[in-house]
Amino acid sequence: MKIKLWGVRGSLPVPGPHTVKYGGNTACIELRIGERLIIIDAGSGIRELGDFIIAHELPKKPIKVDLFLTHTHLDHIIGFPFFAPIYLPGTFLNIYGPVTYEDNYLEEVINGQFTYRYFPVRWSELSARMNLLYLREEQRDLGGGLSLSTKYLNHPVLCLGYRFEYHGKVFCTLYDSEPFRNPFSSDPSDPAYERGMTLEGEETAYQENQRVENFVYGADLLIHDGQYTQDEYLSSKIGWGHSSCEHAIDVARRNAVKKIVLFHHDPLRRDDEIDILEEKYARTANIGSTEILFAREGMELDI
Ligand SMILES: [Zn+2]
Ligand SMILES: [Zn+2]
Repeated sequence: MKIKLWGVRGSLPVPGPHTVKYGGNTACIELRIGERLIIIDAGSGIRELGDFIIAHELPKKPIKVDLFLTHTHLDHIIGFPFFAPIYLPGTFLNIYGPVTYEDNYLEEVINGQFTYRYFPVRWSELSARMNLLYLREEQRDLGGGLSLSTKYLNHPVLCLGYRFEYHGKVFCTLYDSEPFRNPFSSDPSDPAYERGMTLEGEETAYQENQRVENFVYGADLLIHDGQYTQDEYLSSKIGWGHSSCEHAIDVARRNAVKKIVLFHHDPLRRDDEIDILEEKYARTANIGSTEILFAREGMELDI
């Protein structure tokens, strides 16, 4: 499996002099398995990927892509109208995304971008053939020896982690996610405190976190949310749906992950600040069997 990162930023694109090194585009990951092209998320990074595909592959054969959306927050879909292959008649696109309680959820979110109030092209004017497919927490055979598992994550909207397995190699994504926590008060002096609820909430959170950890167990490569430092997370970011670098590294180390890439950088984080985090975690703390990297636009990984 060959992986290339086309967008590594969270929340919104941040071009400018302070994001040149790690990149300012939002989430987009290219996964190649032989001739097969899989894309995870359609953040602003997908625009350049689309142009690359047209320049290098279209001359050889029509474009066929499996696009997996982790969820539908803007930073993960904003590049889709700028993915140029959708304007080409020979393109075929499977778009996978999470099921929700709403009817026609993906149709409304994806197609909904192509209305004149948001964009000058309508959905019906796109030339590519597109197929929308819903995923739950499940296991699925994608054919050709490739299998997929999905896991619901803790985020303000339904969001999936992905685990791709091929010929014994495992590639996981786990971002736009924070640890599950007990929603009930654990302070006995709080009037809302109920011991039974607290114990149940703690047990449920523990089990869900354990399931997330089992999901990434043994991964050769894990791309994990690392939007915050632990201090930032604890001081004001609990409940925002993102993880700290420290938590991500702990999860990787506890679960025999061979390589972790910290991803979904905070839009406010400048290159020099990521350099400092990298120095702290990827160099000096890079001991043991888990290799730690910080995601950078253009980074290529092979497992
Ligand atoms: Zn995001
Ligand atoms: Zn999100």
